[in-house]
Amino acid sequence: MSDDHDPEATLQEWKESMQAEHAEAIAEPDPDADHTIEGVAQVSYRMTFDYDADAGELVRASTEQVDDLADPELLSCVCGVRGMTREEARQHLAAAVE
Ligand SMILES: [Zn+2]
Repeated sequence: MSDDHDPEATLQEWKESMQAEHAEAIAEPDPDADHTIEGVAQVSYRMTFDYDADAGELVRASTEQVDDLADPELLSCVCGVRGMTREEARQHLAAAVE
């Protein structure tokens, strides 16, 4: 800790302390908590629409899946640790089963 009030240095210190807390939460899971890794992923579809002249509205005509379901880049744990890479999530569960 320094006594000067350089905002850049303060921000840097804050980032480092957040990163240290994050690393600690990953490496030292709460033994009393449940640990299940979760994430949200999306699949894209190409859709076509027809014009329903009677209703004056577009109606969905077809959907075609254009990519495969891929694992999300960032994962979280139900114990509250968020924003983990796949490797960090692996380490978190590995530490939890020890
Ligand atoms: Zn956890």
